[in-house]
Amino acid sequence: MSTSYRLNKFLKYSSSTITTLVLGFFSITGAMANFNEGEGIQKITDRVFVIHGSLDLPNAENKGFMNNPVIALGDNGVVVIDPGSSSDIGRYIIEQVKKLSSKPITHVLSTHIHGDHWLGNHAIFEEYPQAQFFAHPDMISAANAGEADRWIALLNSLTSGATAGTSAHIPDNALHDGQNLAIPGLPIRVHLSDHAHTTTDAMFELIDESVVILGDNGLNGRIGRMDDGHFLGNITALKKVIDINAKWYVPGHGKTGTIEVATKYHNYLKMIHDAAKHYGEDFMPAFEIKQTIEEDFKAYASWHSFDEQFGRHVSLASLEVEQDAF
Ligand SMILES: [Zn+2]
Repeated sequence: MSTSYRLNKFLKYSSSTITTLVLGFFSITGAMANFNEGEGIQKITDRVFVIHGSLDLPNAENKGFMNNPVIALGDNGVVVIDPGSSSDIGRYIIEQVKKLSSKPITHVLSTHIHGDHWLGNHAIFEEYPQAQFFAHPDMISAANAGEADRWIALLNSLTSGATAGTSAHIPDNALHDGQNLAIPGLPIRVHLSDHAHTTTDAMFELIDESVVILGDNGLNGRIGRMDDGHFLGNITALKKVIDINAKWYVPGHGKTGTIEVATKYHNYLKMIHDAAKHYGEDFMPAFEIKQTIEEDFKAYASWHSFDEQFGRHVSLASLEVEQDAF
């Protein structure tokens, strides 16, 4: 990276920060008016609602709102899962909750460490200080060890300052695999994995609603990054919740749907992993594996980020197969 490029980047970042500071007074109202792209809040069951964010990566236009916050109504309170990437988005989620229920938010669940999913926590903590915040134990430790600050800076940079003013409220209730959260009217079973999309993933089964929240272990219409992931672990995690045979599956990004949401992403990861294993045994280099199997991935070629991620995934899966062989 050249010095002038760095300087330009710095100036660009500083000026957008200054603009944000100057416009800060207006930002909350402005942001709230603009988050709700497309179809807005979608009712999945009588108790479960999803706000589907943009399929794009975080940018100035979407203000970092590109995940799928879930609002679920218990008898005595409201559960929110993954309230987005900033305090502004968290406040927007609270507004939506108030339209659906007069009850307070009592539980906030995080699917994993990536900040686009959970940095909205702080807004909920400010308004509902009694709420309990839950996550995978490794997410809690990673966030406390510096990942929270790193994600705040990263999202603020990617959105040209649109997430400014966000601070982290790190969950402090560690989940365990198979745990049942006995929330009146809304029992939830917790499914953790050691290493899937990240080492911090939690999936949530809303048992009576027959809804599974996948986090980024499963995406729809977008190919995820696997830089922090493990193909075989992600495949295993998805298979476990596919076997539940629930009525609805909520992906970390993209539209909610039936079991196909989970199986299609599962098959994508499995096809790549199987090819890496099969051709890797013949010592075929990753770029050749990619060329050999590309034809088989037509069903995914139109998905967001496919062109950037597909080749990278073949390389990562090849490395993983090699490492797992020892
Ligand atoms: Zn993620």
